[in-house]
Amino acid sequence: MRIALTNDDGILAPGLLALKAALAPLGEAVAIAPDRPRSACGHAVTLHKPLRVASVALPDGSQGFSCNGTPSDCVGLALSGHVGPRPDLVISGINLGPNAGWDLTYSGTVAAAMEAAINGLPSFAISVDAFEPVDFAPAADFAAYLAGAILARGLPRDTFLNVNVPAVPPGELRGVSITCQGRTAYDGVIERRTDPRGRPYYWWTGDRSRQPADTGTDMAALREHKISVTPMKLDLTEHAFVSGLGDWQLRWPR
Ligand code: MN
Repeated sequence: MRIALTNDDGILAPGLLALKAALAPLGEAVAIAPDRPRSACGHAVTLHKPLRVASVALPDGSQGFSCNGTPSDCVGLALSGHVGPRPDLVISGINLGPNAGWDLTYSGTVAAAMEAAINGLPSFAISVDAFEPVDFAPAADFAAYLAGAILARGLPRDTFLNVNVPAVPPGELRGVSITCQGRTAYDGVIERRTDPRGRPYYWWTGDRSRQPADTGTDMAALREHKISVTPMKLDLTEHAFVSGLGDWQLRWPR
């Protein structure tokens, strides 16, 4: 069994190393990840400059690979067989910071799992609900358990999983919840500030924690200290509006 691991926090991120250690009993796990933090890069791929891959000694002494591209580039390289044979499963994480609600559309972590699904490989993204370094062991253990379940059962076509793990001690975890993507977003506020030379600059701010979380969503599960597992699909079409939009009878106006 071959498992490709990636993330958007960089090849030396502790979450990736914890994931690799937990997966060792399942098979050969190869880590290929960006050579620097690339959080919030979304599904970007590198089309207009060379991709470079370097062998890296990971803190556990094993070999990993760093890449000057994005998480989706890393998945592409793994699936193209450039860091060993094509994997059977792709796991992205463990991300520092939750990927829930509308936020996950910005996520390089989630996009890497999406890239695997596009190429017909089972995959999942996994994140912890903390922005400061935490004990990744509970999330890593769950990742290994879930990887086993996926390898045994497979996933439907065009489908991947998005996992969020509460940042609480294992004894305070209240189980697993199968969830829907919530509507929670950052406030979407960009603040205007002034640099030391008197010129304006702008910086994204926002606090999602104050927003309500609908029942059954990823964010609600995290607040209940439950591991959230959301089945995700690639198709963003709003099928319920296809016929309604057809009623507009849109036409080429000239
Ligand atoms: Mn990240």
